[in-house]
Amino acid sequence: MAELKYDDNGRLIFTEEMRKEYTILVPQMAPFHFEYLVDAFNSEGYNAELLRTTDYELIHEGMKYSHNDICVPAMLVIGQFIDAIKKKGIDKHKVALIITQTGGGCRASNYIALLRKALKKAQLDFVPVISLNANGFEENPGFKLSPRLFHKLHEGIVFGDLMMGLVHQTRPYEKEKGAVNALKATIDEELKEYFNHRKLFTWKKSKKRIQDIIRRFSALDLDKTPKPKVGIVGEIYVKFSPLGNNHLEETLEKEGVQVVVPPLYDFFLYSFDSRAHDIRRYGGPRKERLVLKALLWYIEVRRGKVRKLMRKAGFETPISYKALKSLIDGFIDVGTHTGEGWLLTAEMVDLIKHDAPNIVCTQPFGCLPNHIAGKGMFKKLKKRFPHSNIVAIDYDTSASEINQVNRINLMVSNAFRNFEKGNSQ
Ligand code: SF4
Repeated sequence: MAELKYDDNGRLIFTEEMRKEYTILVPQMAPFHFEYLVDAFNSEGYNAELLRTTDYELIHEGMKYSHNDICVPAMLVIGQFIDAIKKKGIDKHKVALIITQTGGGCRASNYIALLRKALKKAQLDFVPVISLNANGFEENPGFKLSPRLFHKLHEGIVFGDLMMGLVHQTRPYEKEKGAVNALKATIDEELKEYFNHRKLFTWKKSKKRIQDIIRRFSALDLDKTPKPKVGIVGEIYVKFSPLGNNHLEETLEKEGVQVVVPPLYDFFLYSFDSRAHDIRRYGGPRKERLVLKALLWYIEVRRGKVRKLMRKAGFETPISYKALKSLIDGFIDVGTHTGEGWLLTAEMVDLIKHDAPNIVCTQPFGCLPNHIAGKGMFKKLKKRFPHSNIVAIDYDTSASEINQVNRINLMVSNAFRNFEKGNSQ
């Protein structure tokens, strides 16, 4: 068994030996993306496993091992981890956990400390926790964010955003029930092999795969009678995670609308850009700012090419990051970047301007930054766009699901009424 080693601060580290023997558990956040991120890890020699659980016991574990005042996403992630370690039938002494650390001003940067505290309380403090970040925090000899892994993670997010866009634009219109999910499952399987690659992905290789995916979605038999579009925005975890938002996408699609979810990549670009903004405004390493700007440019060039391929096949595409950022003029300052910050406001303006004036703004209970950039903007948005139809839904481990569904249904019935009146299309 791998020996437990600690750094100078007493942090349990993930060693080279552990890399060979341990299973790394990954919490589910964004179902369209995290499958590919786990494929990317596994193709680089890790043994990573995505947790897909959403049951009540997990929430209970989160409440048991964390303070009831902490952010809902932290409580759910902690609950999902501890529940998995206790139930999965895996050797607890051969399991590690991985969690993102944003390095931003919000509590998300401290989830890792809360997780370690919870593990200690659950008498599982021999389980190493790996911080996934681009800032060089908490190094571990057994885990390296190598350029190739970084590039694969980038591809994973690009493919996740692509699949999310294609699925959302086809599933509500499929003639054969289940055809879109079946196609997605087949492509997900094929992509496992795609990520298992020793070289960096060239655009030529990516393009071929993307064209093939788009072609297969274009070939689906659809009834394109238009439906109202409902956008989902909010705090990053509850916006994407079915565990965090009580399967919101599914609830909305069952109500007969088309769901529109802004790309996950915009959040990462916003995070890089926010750091570059802080360096410019408050000082910091110039080199780091240049690297961040170069990264933003590179990612946008790649995303622009994917958007072009999608548009060519008749699919709608998100707007560029630059165009998205310009939408906040007159609403909120670019310096507001705690939590989702200005990005949340920009996404709402974008949805309203692009035929999805019906919006669910998901808010973890007690999340201050997103209440300011989300709910705090509603009055201004309503004034500027009187036809907008936005509802804020609080997500809390003890919130009434009936209450959430009732509020969503009310928004959806307004969406249908406006749609029939021709306001939204
Ligand atoms: S954005 Fe909200 S939920 Fe996320 S860490 Fe900050 S306060 Fe918590």
